[in-house]
Amino acid sequence: MDLKYVQTTCPYCGTGCSFNLVVKDGKVVGTQPYKRSPVNEGKVCPKGTYAHEFVNSPDRLTKPLIKKDGKFVEATWDEAYDLIAQKFKSYKPDEIACLSSARVSNEENYLLMKLARGVFKTRHIDHCARLCHASTVAGLAASFGSGAMTNSILDIAESKCVFVIGSNTFEQHPLIGRKIVQAKLNGAKIIVFDPRYTPTAKQADLYASFYSGTDVAVLNCLMGEIIRNGWEDKEWVSKRAKGYEELKATVTSDTYLPENVEKISGIAAADLKTAAEWIGTAESSALLYSMGITQHTVGVDNVKSTANLQMLTGNIGRRGGGVNALRGQNNVQGACDMGALPVVFTGYQKVIDEAVHKKFADAWGFPDGICEPKNGYEVTVMFNVLTDNPGELKAMYIMGENPMLSDPDLTHAEHALEQLEFLVVQDIFLTETAQHADVVLPATCYAEKEGTQTSTERRVQMWRKAQDPPGEAKVDWQIISEVAAAMGYADQFPYQSAEEIFNEIAALTPSYHGMNYERLNRPEALHWPCPTEDHPGTPILHIGKCSHPDGMGVMHPIEWKPPAEVPDDEYPYILTTGRCLWHWHTGSMTRRSATLDTEVPTGWIEINTEDAKELGIANKEMVRATSRRGTVDVPAKVTDEIKKGVMFMPFHFAECAANRLTNNALDPIAKIPEFKACAVKVEKITEA
Ligand code: SF4
Repeated sequence: MDLKYVQTTCPYCGTGCSFNLVVKDGKVVGTQPYKRSPVNEGKVCPKGTYAHEFVNSPDRLTKPLIKKDGKFVEATWDEAYDLIAQKFKSYKPDEIACLSSARVSNEENYLLMKLARGVFKTRHIDHCARLCHASTVAGLAASFGSGAMTNSILDIAESKCVFVIGSNTFEQHPLIGRKIVQAKLNGAKIIVFDPRYTPTAKQADLYASFYSGTDVAVLNCLMGEIIRNGWEDKEWVSKRAKGYEELKATVTSDTYLPENVEKISGIAAADLKTAAEWIGTAESSALLYSMGITQHTVGVDNVKSTANLQMLTGNIGRRGGGVNALRGQNNVQGACDMGALPVVFTGYQKVIDEAVHKKFADAWGFPDGICEPKNGYEVTVMFNVLTDNPGELKAMYIMGENPMLSDPDLTHAEHALEQLEFLVVQDIFLTETAQHADVVLPATCYAEKEGTQTSTERRVQMWRKAQDPPGEAKVDWQIISEVAAAMGYADQFPYQSAEEIFNEIAALTPSYHGMNYERLNRPEALHWPCPTEDHPGTPILHIGKCSHPDGMGVMHPIEWKPPAEVPDDEYPYILTTGRCLWHWHTGSMTRRSATLDTEVPTGWIEINTEDAKELGIANKEMVRATSRRGTVDVPAKVTDEIKKGVMFMPFHFAECAANRLTNNALDPIAKIPEFKACAVKVEKITEA
């Protein structure tokens, strides 16, 4: 029996845990602890424990598929490439859009970005960061000059106060939750504000439930209390921040007095005062947030408000402090770093900057140039353009994304995809989105390739190949290179290994300049920025100065605005959406894991016990949830652990898809949809 252990990095959440894949007779059969990673020290959550189970699923795509007369038929790679090249050559650059992926490696995101801008010459490339943390990238960049988590995961355990708002850390980033527990054991106070009494909330010294969409009011209230009591860090504010007086005028106004914010948010004034005191007087205070903050029409405002609070209390560039934006998918940070965004090349170098544009054009050497130096469409805008201006976008290339389950208002998303003349999907399973494709290309999962991914704390870590791909499936970077060659650009895609691609990335990306596979191939890997080959990496950003050219942090006075859709007589409840411990995003991997899918086999809607009583709904009864955009039949979970007037659905499940109901109203800057607040009604199902 041939048995080996291959150390790699988890393909699920942005924590970036390491484990060993157990390989028997050439096939991945299990996971085992890898104890040398400082991130998780040999521990993993249930998703990581069973991360081998989907790898050899019988549902894996093994051959290219071409749709003929509405049905998929198997094809050769050459047939698929010929059709893709023929079609994409027939479109103008601005008629093509590409979606890259937070699931694949940095190298593959970089290459899809190069394919889009260099081969297709389109401005339109984006990926699902638009749906989760686009507000973080925009909000933190405006505040600090860099749009990423400021501190490290290990640093959270050193904090003396941990304030969690808009994150169910114990279910979504369980091994970061472990750091909160370690902080608590070290004497830290834990504050959790969330509409649901989550497993994270149960660890809190102070928990308060609040209405989804009232974050700015809550954060302004905390800052007003801190200033009125003189708890602000006067030295930090005077030496390192701009905009304090304007911020002070806003947050100390009567609107944000605790008694008034109690009425807006539902948090008792006394709890707001206690939280302000704990945060304002702690030696260090870390703020953790996730999509409860970002997925709003005011997502950027929310993010800037978290940055305001942390600057006000001097918790930027400080151990145990920071704005810890917990990125969702394994490589969503990396996909952003690699320029799979419509406004930047790698390392957030702006597309509209002529010098940057020339740098990439010169380095890539396309004889007929690259895309124009103009910003492209965000994924949410692409889908609106498809429905509102038919014919403007005609073809799309989607790698490893599933908008037919992840996007808001799925009826709209489906209608948008139907407008395309030609759709290519590159994935490991025939997802809900792939079913709409004209060509499907079978790709590889994390266990079948080398590459790097960048976790939420900017730590760049390696995947290592444990088994061969199934059937004729190919590594994603190889597929992209072969598509480029079919389009006539083989010379620009000469790669023989992921390492060669990484070296090209490092050469073009200042924050990755000092990285190479030799340096990354060790348990602690490296945090960016790592500008030179002797630089140790940067676990904590903004020590001494922020990343703006003048080194200053920028405080933004922000007024609270309600969500785009609020409850009314017809739709009287707020619906918020999210994830659970056992599944991951659109479930394409976890629902094909027997253990995980047995544990939680379908979705549900959480209803407060009093609301359920008024509606005559019993626990586990099938109910009908309806918004202005759609209707879903879903089992009820009646519980006291959600605020009265608020309902919750996980979005992993196609058979009761929460995103049939959600609102595609967008943040005006980040273009992120408001997944966390829309108005619904819920009824008993009376017909047979
Ligand atoms: Fe994987 Fe995240 Fe679980 Fe770690 S916490 S094992 S990275 S899903």
